[in-house]
Amino acid sequence: MQKKVRIVLVNTSHPGNIGGAARAMKNMGLADLYLVAPKQYPSDEAVSRASGATDILENAVVVETLEEALADCQLVIGTSARERNIPWPLVDPRQAADLVFDEGLETAFVFGREDRGLTNEELQRCNYHVHIPSVETFSSLNLGAAVQVIAYELRMKSLLMKDAPVVASKWDVPAANVEQIDYLLEHLEKVLVQTEFLDPEMPMQVMPRFRRLFQRSRLDQQELGMLRGMLTSMEKQMKK
Ligand code: SAH
Repeated sequence: MQKKVRIVLVNTSHPGNIGGAARAMKNMGLADLYLVAPKQYPSDEAVSRASGATDILENAVVVETLEEALADCQLVIGTSARERNIPWPLVDPRQAADLVFDEGLETAFVFGREDRGLTNEELQRCNYHVHIPSVETFSSLNLGAAVQVIAYELRMKSLLMKDAPVVASKWDVPAANVEQIDYLLEHLEKVLVQTEFLDPEMPMQVMPRFRRLFQRSRLDQQELGMLRGMLTSMEKQMKK
């Protein structure tokens, strides 16, 4: 069963691309647009490029940080034209659309800046990376075009699923959301510094790898509560 899907555009430079994304979304039946620190917004150019999808622009949520845009999401899929140092679970747009419908979670698709894409840190906040399989020698699509491809695959999947029986959630406890996983990671880092497992002067890639592990295992809220409780009990013992 599918929950709402939001499109998150990070630090967009050209307002025309925001309008183009809104139009692509409306064509394919998506409505929830989040703009993280857009360079120029609101803008007449965005309205003109949206060409009738102005309701999506009017209802767009503008926030300062990616954390705010994702706080209540349970599944985050980041789009990137480039491969990164620490490999992350990688899917193509069709597989991403399958995940959205199979998992039935509050989902965000995150898109990067026109010139530099998403930073490694921003991509590490995602459960999956989706790569649109463009040719290697010219791999980067225009931002609005990338939104169009993802929105199209979601639309195709929704049409396929229209007559499928509605299945109740497969899991007994709701999935943790991004904000809860962030708190867990902050708590874990604090305890690991105290136990000297983690050297704050030389953190290496320990925390991104823990992040990848927790995001990959799709923690539910009870499991997350147990991990938080375990950390608190360790802190108490250390204080004794
Ligand atoms: N030069 C940037 C590309 C920016 S294109 C870079 O190297 O990352 C703007 C945005 O469109 C990207 O951040 C991504 O969100 C999306 N995009 C463009 N091409 C893509 C592709 N092949 N696969 C997935 N997303 C893509």
